[in-house]
Amino acid sequence: MTSKTTVKTLLILGASGDLTGRLLLPGLAGLLAAGRAPGLRLVGAGSDPWSPEQWQERVKGAFEAASKSADAAGSAALAAVAESTAYHQLDVTADGPLAELLAQLEGPIAVYFALPPHISQKACEVLKRDQVPAGTRLVMEKPFGSGTESAHELNKTLAALVPEDHIHRVDHFLGKATVLNILGLRFANRFLEPVWNRDHIEKVEVIFDEDLALEGRARYYDTAGALRDMIQSHLLHIMAFLAIDAPATIEERDLRDAVATVLRASSIKAPFPETTRRARYTAGTLGERTVPDYAAEQGVDPGRNTETLAEVQVEINNWRWAGVPFILRSGKALGRRRKEAVITFRPVPHLPTGFAGVDSPNQLRIGFGPDVLRLDVDVNGPGDIFTLDRASLVAELNAAELLPYGEVLEGILNGDPLLSVRGDTAEDCWRIIEPVLRAWESGEVPLEEYDAGSAGPAAWPTAVED
Ligand code: NDP
Repeated sequence: MTSKTTVKTLLILGASGDLTGRLLLPGLAGLLAAGRAPGLRLVGAGSDPWSPEQWQERVKGAFEAASKSADAAGSAALAAVAESTAYHQLDVTADGPLAELLAQLEGPIAVYFALPPHISQKACEVLKRDQVPAGTRLVMEKPFGSGTESAHELNKTLAALVPEDHIHRVDHFLGKATVLNILGLRFANRFLEPVWNRDHIEKVEVIFDEDLALEGRARYYDTAGALRDMIQSHLLHIMAFLAIDAPATIEERDLRDAVATVLRASSIKAPFPETTRRARYTAGTLGERTVPDYAAEQGVDPGRNTETLAEVQVEINNWRWAGVPFILRSGKALGRRRKEAVITFRPVPHLPTGFAGVDSPNQLRIGFGPDVLRLDVDVNGPGDIFTLDRASLVAELNAAELLPYGEVLEGILNGDPLLSVRGDTAEDCWRIIEPVLRAWESGEVPLEEYDAGSAGPAAWPTAVED
């Protein structure tokens, strides 16, 4: 991919926010240090009455780690951006100030809405098309709406301001090198495609278990829960990459069409007590730390019944995948950090008589941290040579050069929406999980419990997977 920077000014709304400090600025730092955003100007804005120096200090702090490992040119690029960055205090929801700021900035501009979702929405509603300079890119964070209808309304608001290919709906999983590597693995190798279908694959699991608990994020997490936070966009996109047909190119139109086609064919079928599960952690230990009940964590409203572990079984209703369950699971406060896709193949049609031992299905594991590929196969054992033994072919993947937010930002700055979620797909992701959200809200599926530090409720089949 070329590193042509078409955006001249990156305007971050929400300069004092957590996302900006922890993810956006470090992502940008990696890009600048690698010389992949030459000539970019950074502008911060927020409702705090910060001096320009305060904002510059924040930027420098966030650039520090990248600066230490950068070469001379990289350090100079980081310093240049940090020293020239400007700060503007404004209320983005007021009619006027944001439009006035946009008129002052050198274009093309990328406006990054690192704001609470309802504030981003309001900010877009008060803007008018003629106040948005030509070529401006609007960057929206997750969650994109709170359901199909609100995502649709937000899409309409944005479409009134800029063309679709100038709207970047961020799902930073699309910037993870290991997630993108699914495409390389599947489409640059001959041996997988012939078996990549319902005839040979029994089930596909995408698992994102965290060994961290709430970590003070109750304000956001308690209103979201695991299904909205992780499965609604991140895991559905990984699933889509695992399930798409080979696109003609990995350019924006072909790849995003392929993803949209798979997600349109996807659904979670009732009865939901059979196809979905939810649970929440109780007190336990994570490593050395004692964790209280989720319900007793500061800022949590126990009456909301927010799940900290969710699992859903998605069906992809097409010729390639009909009947193959795609199980998506994510949770917090689990005993083991486990982030991988596991593809389980069907057994061989006939194991020649004479083999001893248990034949286990082939499994391909795509790790998303640690970044490893592992293919589990059965081979003849070392003792009685016809007693089957398990062996693993393991490939460690090279570390990515950029952080996921760096990859995503590079696409935005280059004017390439490839790594952004398209509007129709954003709505479809909600359409897939909305019936489950309704069923859970009505209590149709019981909220189970698991001890923090355990593998999840013992009865869940995915909990015992090695
Ligand atoms: P924070 O609450 O930490 O920051 C929000 C920012 O918005 C603050 O800088 C705040 O400034 C500013 N703000 C609020 N109201 C206004 C206003 N009317 N005018 C101008 N600025 C305003 O939120 P996060 O950084 O955590 O999240 C931002 C977005 O990113 C959300 O959509 C979130 O869902 C998403 N996200 C966050 C992640 C994270 O890890 N934090 C991860 C993935 C996505 P002030 O305090 O001065 O009001």
